[in-house]
Amino acid sequence: MLSKPLSLIGAAAALALTFAGSATAQDFPNKDKNITFVVPFAAGGPTDKAARDLAESMRKTLGANIVVDNAVGASGSIGANKVAKANPDGYTLLFFHIGQATLPTMLRTIPYKVETDFEYLGLVSENPMSVIGRPSLPANNMAELVKWANENKGKINIGNAGIGSASHLCGMLFQSALKIDMTPVPYKGTAPAMTDLIGGQIDLMCDQTTSTAQQIEGKKVKAYSVTTPKRLAPAVFKDLPTMQEAGYKDFAVTIWQGLYAPKGTPAPVLKKINDALKLAVKDADFIKKQESAGASVISDARNDAAGHKAFVGAEMAKWGPIIKAAGVYAD
Ligand code: ASP
Repeated sequence: MLSKPLSLIGAAAALALTFAGSATAQDFPNKDKNITFVVPFAAGGPTDKAARDLAESMRKTLGANIVVDNAVGASGSIGANKVAKANPDGYTLLFFHIGQATLPTMLRTIPYKVETDFEYLGLVSENPMSVIGRPSLPANNMAELVKWANENKGKINIGNAGIGSASHLCGMLFQSALKIDMTPVPYKGTAPAMTDLIGGQIDLMCDQTTSTAQQIEGKKVKAYSVTTPKRLAPAVFKDLPTMQEAGYKDFAVTIWQGLYAPKGTPAPVLKKINDALKLAVKDADFIKKQESAGASVISDARNDAAGHKAFVGAEMAKWGPIIKAAGVYAD
């Protein structure tokens, strides 16, 4: 006797939930609510800058306010985990870089699964890195830097945004190319590391060009090389050699960044966000901001979920063995 009313109640509840779900999806975004881009590094750094540029562009087409939440720490895994566990309603999104593919190998444990805990919303940009030094370093070019590094073995420190971050990965490849061990100094993002580099507290750093362009131009830091196989077009970088030109023939690292939602976010909500992302990568303002600092905007199959996910998988497969061979892990 009891089972019928109970199953009726269950069916009614399920129906109500379905309606509530589709109403939410249809109304998305609610103009009275903020959409939050969780950025897992400090404000003022390259990931933060790219996220704010994207937010500015997507705000125009979504018609909703987008705010940035710098949820920093543990090389970006704190912010990523925050989104993996967030309500899947489209209002909490993760803006993250190559760390999405490298952290699972570089950190011994992460509290989320890259493959199954996120909806992939599309990649937006690619960013070369550049090797820079404190302004008081005696070396003025790559050859002098290599000579100085060899003369100062055991005394050199290199800043990064935590084990597993892009700057850590690049710095690790740099040390292995030069065959010189340096002392890593971790920060909660490369913005605070840059402050210390300018102040001379640390010697070297490898960071995205979107973060280094202004500092190089203002002569606040010394610049030595870029990490792409080809030289970069912007005036501030065009005279810098690539690491390959400097003699390190396999050296190539480019950072990419994209947007993620928690797993289970309704498909119509994902579509609206993805539509806005695809308009952003065609937005002249957004493109100009990235290109003027040596980055490029992605406009291909990786702007969609399937292409984005396949690319992250390929990057995990590419970097995993390199990271393992270098033996760099952290708990
Ligand atoms: N550039 C940083 C990294 O090394 C992150 C940041 O501060 O944006 O991963």
